[in-house]
Amino acid sequence: MAGKQDYYELLGVAKTAAPEEIKKAYKKMAMKYHPDRNPGDKEAEEKFKKVNEAYEVLSNPEKRQIYDQYGEDGLKGSFGAGAEGADFSEMFKNAGFGGGFSNLGDIFDSMFGGGGRGRARNMPQQGTDLITKIIVTFKESYTGTSKEISFNRSSSCQFCNGTGAESGSSRKACPTCKGSGQVRSGNGFFSISQTCPTCHGEGSIIEKPCTHCHGTGFLKETKKVEVKVPAGIADGMQIRVAGEGNSGLNGGPRGDVYVEVRVKSDELFLREGNDIYVEIPITYSQAALGDKIEVPTMDGTVEMTLPAGTQPNTKMRLKDKGFPDVHGRGKGVLYVIFKLEVPRNLSDGHKEAIMKLKEFEKEIKERPTLKDYLEKIKKWFGK
Ligand SMILES: [Zn+2]
Ligand SMILES: [Zn+2]
Repeated sequence: MAGKQDYYELLGVAKTAAPEEIKKAYKKMAMKYHPDRNPGDKEAEEKFKKVNEAYEVLSNPEKRQIYDQYGEDGLKGSFGAGAEGADFSEMFKNAGFGGGFSNLGDIFDSMFGGGGRGRARNMPQQGTDLITKIIVTFKESYTGTSKEISFNRSSSCQFCNGTGAESGSSRKACPTCKGSGQVRSGNGFFSISQTCPTCHGEGSIIEKPCTHCHGTGFLKETKKVEVKVPAGIADGMQIRVAGEGNSGLNGGPRGDVYVEVRVKSDELFLREGNDIYVEIPITYSQAALGDKIEVPTMDGTVEMTLPAGTQPNTKMRLKDKGFPDVHGRGKGVLYVIFKLEVPRNLSDGHKEAIMKLKEFEKEIKERPTLKDYLEKIKKWFGK
């Protein structure tokens, strides 16, 4: 391989690299040297071609084996033994990402999120979907809001109307396969049919590729769209924005955009389903004597009556003060939990008052919780 750079070196992977690693390395290199990112850079363009060539071989187990054994020369002419009767185009398809000769298409697939060059090449195909993310506050998820999203998508190239051909030029029959899209290579007794490497099986090639989109027919564009976030939206839900995704193939419609919504958690309110929980600290005297308490809700405060003798962690329901159901099916409940707060660092006066309280505690005749506890203790010790 004198004077030529080793394929493994080109992709920056070890000779023992797993297919996944090679795929990853290739993707990185192809993005780096892609003509769209390096306009007018001849060196990058050359490198881009070499990287594709390397991947074409290393992504295919048969070819990789031959390359490892005989180097680049081994791949010229025949495909050697071991590929008897195999349909290479099928094998390339099965090789997953970037199988064989469709590397260029795959780069665009990965850059623009797909397009899937399937068998029905001239059928209109819907463009692929895109996924993006927005963050909304807890309050916004309750009231609903509107957010502008910005994302990159592929659009039909306006310079060549998506044909990929420089204006005035057109497609001509592929000189390699004479328009059939397949080439056959003989190896003695066996003959192997494979997708034409020149036209990727399309049977025709662009005479003069459009200089703007490099013959792909697509350009990248940044699109901004206003998204309506409905009231009641919960963390992790997706909003579908129809028809704003990548351009379709052969006149097919655009794909959709899915907006994943992340809702920031709140310090005061906790959401569970459409219900909300809020904890309110109360003192012993408030619990014992009862009180009127201001309780926060998502739409302002309400006054609640705490009855005398309220127990710690008492949960009260405020109907219809929870989240509105995002599909319009009613509203959740707001649960108010009263947490008993025991004072620390008492003043002398406060301490004295509690000491007095202790005296009274001896006189309390009715203590249902204590009675319950004592019975359980009795049972446990078998007395
Ligand atoms: Zn061809
Ligand atoms: Zn173009």
